Amino acid sequence: MFEKVLIANRGEIALRIHRACREMGIQTVAVHSTADADAMHVRLADESVCIGPASARDSYLNIPAILSAAAITNVDAIHPGIGFLAENAQFAEMVEEHGFAFIGPTADHIRIMGDKVTAKKTVMDLGLPVVPGSDGPVPTVEEAEKVAAEIGYPVLIKAAAGGGGKGMKVAKRPDQLREAYQLARGEARAAFGNDEVYIEKYLAKPRHIEIQLLADMHGSCVHFGERDCSVQRRHQKVIEEAPSPALNAEQRAFIGNLAAKCTAAIGYRGVGTMEFLYEEGKFYFIEMNTRLQVEHTISEMITGVDLVREQIRVATGAPLGYTQDDIRFEGHSIECRVNAENPETFIPSPGKIDGYHAPGGLGVRVDSALYDGYRVPPHYDSLIAKLVVHGTTRNECLMRLRRSIEEYVIGGIQTTLPLHERIIAEADFINGTYDIHWLEHLMSK
Ligand code: ADP
Repeated sequence: MFEKVLIANRGEIALRIHRACREMGIQTVAVHSTADADAMHVRLADESVCIGPASARDSYLNIPAILSAAAITNVDAIHPGIGFLAENAQFAEMVEEHGFAFIGPTADHIRIMGDKVTAKKTVMDLGLPVVPGSDGPVPTVEEAEKVAAEIGYPVLIKAAAGGGGKGMKVAKRPDQLREAYQLARGEARAAFGNDEVYIEKYLAKPRHIEIQLLADMHGSCVHFGERDCSVQRRHQKVIEEAPSPALNAEQRAFIGNLAAKCTAAIGYRGVGTMEFLYEEGKFYFIEMNTRLQVEHTISEMITGVDLVREQIRVATGAPLGYTQDDIRFEGHSIECRVNAENPETFIPSPGKIDGYHAPGGLGVRVDSALYDGYRVPPHYDSLIAKLVVHGTTRNECLMRLRRSIEEYVIGGIQTTLPLHERIIAEADFINGTYDIHWLEHLMSK
């Protein structure tokens, strides 16, 4: 087992990883920017190292500074968390070259899945269904026109290096294609330094269903069921739930087992998520995330398994030690992503927390690094808390979520809690009848 782990991240996820380490008897090293000197993960860690100024490029993305911090604190392993360097293959490689374990997949797997064109081809060859689209990258607008005409409008132009919904543009009709193609390339170039794009059929009313996977280094892989992440704004998740109101046990087993088989077949290790669109009873793979995800919490709530603990355990080389049949699903869980933003305009709202009270009680979990008097810095992602609830039934879960939102006080800044309150009061949400476009329609009313 590792004795000491460096957490190369910040915010709630750094705290989440710290908690798993503590429970495993592992010491933690927090790294932080100058803007995060007072952050909760820094306060709770056994040791901390300042790795640079506020700008993420100079701190949380500063590979030499992070590796130096790991060397001077003499850690065994580095956990990259979510975002920042978590899907940076070069970082994973350098971590291992410097003699530390990387708590994540191999650099090769990060690379394969990080390029969505290669990822789709890889899983397609293993028998997974994918969204119909171009065979590979589409280098010219003329070729884009040809492919789009073949697959039929509407189409979606997507960045091969995509993430966070960036570099994705819809063309509903042929006359919109040229502009969508150029916009997608421009956005991809600006966001990822890589303007390679591909084309997919734009599905009209799909749900976003993803499978949580965990593989050890010895060829075993299990799944922890699905999460329904269809409540989205600008292709970004807002609320997630598990299980999906749209799937039955048979469909869950079908897609879960298929994803696990495919993950084992590529020799993957660690946690990962395969994302699918689901429409009219059919699944279509869109991408694989080779890291922990924000919404891993709801899978933990319905299975009782600490996924970060498992992730760390398999990174030491330990075998899973259990099979798919040992994973049981109980009850229902929903997560609300609480952002420091105006709930209507989504303009970021950093600043000092003046009055903080987190909800509690049976089945309520708040993953957050907030505390009264804490100053939310303006430099990073606006996710400040994850409100996660569990109930024996979906209805109990919804009632519990409603009262938890009522209890939650985050003073001094604006948050998206009122948006969550509104969403969960909607009949479509209560009935579970929503797709990936539902929230945007609701907000445009
Ligand atoms: P990113 O990596 O940028 O998050 P994804 O490929 O995971 O991009 O897609 C993000 C979201 O965009 C999906 O959850 C879905 O809502 C929407 N989306 C992606 N591909 C399609 C498609 N072919 N048709 C309709 N919506 C799509």
